[in-house]
Amino acid sequence: TRRAIVAANWKMNGNSALVNTMVTGLSDIKLAENVDVVICPSFPYLSELKSELSKANVATNLFVGSQNVSEHDSGAFTGEVSTNMLKELSVNYVIVGHSERRSLYKETSTQVAHKVNAALNAGLTPILCIGESESERATEQTETVLASQLQPVIDEVGIEKFVDVVIAYEPVWAIGTGKTASSEMAQETHQFIRQFLAQNNELVAAKVPLLYGGSVNATNCEELFAQADIDGGLIGGASLKVEQFSSICLAA
Ligand code: 13P
Repeated sequence: TRRAIVAANWKMNGNSALVNTMVTGLSDIKLAENVDVVICPSFPYLSELKSELSKANVATNLFVGSQNVSEHDSGAFTGEVSTNMLKELSVNYVIVGHSERRSLYKETSTQVAHKVNAALNAGLTPILCIGESESERATEQTETVLASQLQPVIDEVGIEKFVDVVIAYEPVWAIGTGKTASSEMAQETHQFIRQFLAQNNELVAAKVPLLYGGSVNATNCEELFAQADIDGGLIGGASLKVEQFSSICLAA
């Protein structure tokens, strides 16, 4: 059986106070043994989050993740952050190819594949985000789009490496909109993703945690997490509220 993962994507929100209250809040809950929780604040807070987690007497299944990483090792890339820098801060996970990076910062699936490769080579676990837009869903292109986002990564790193990859399915129309995919629709899409991976390697496909993201909250998480191919969630807005995020972690 696969481990469940609940990851918090704070996006460009939060501050030192939130790092502090979140760590305190999460140290009060009893996480199930097969659940990993990953908190992904902006870069300036990674180090503080790591040290707060080590100071507080929190469960060992709480991890630090970044929201992005450069595909390059080092050099003249002003404003970028490398995998080695993240490793030095003891970061474990990195979100790659979030839809906001793809749409606002024009990251292509090829670039996303380079980032996944860089993360894996450094021993960081990539949380690879994929998802279709509202018009793509409306015109029945969902599966084509997801395949076109996955294939370049499979081509670059090889399917065997996916045992160390987490995939987050985030339909763009469900992000920050309050419109969640129904649990049936989410399950159907997750099943497609797993089958797509299975066409390349069945054993690997069975091992990859598939997270759902898009307006997950303390109310809808239980039904989503109960689906056969949904192994947890990538949480935006609700991950900024200690109580809500704690309930979501407990539901996984
Ligand atoms: P919301 O949970 O705010 O819809 O955001 C989802 C998301 O983009 C997480 O990466």
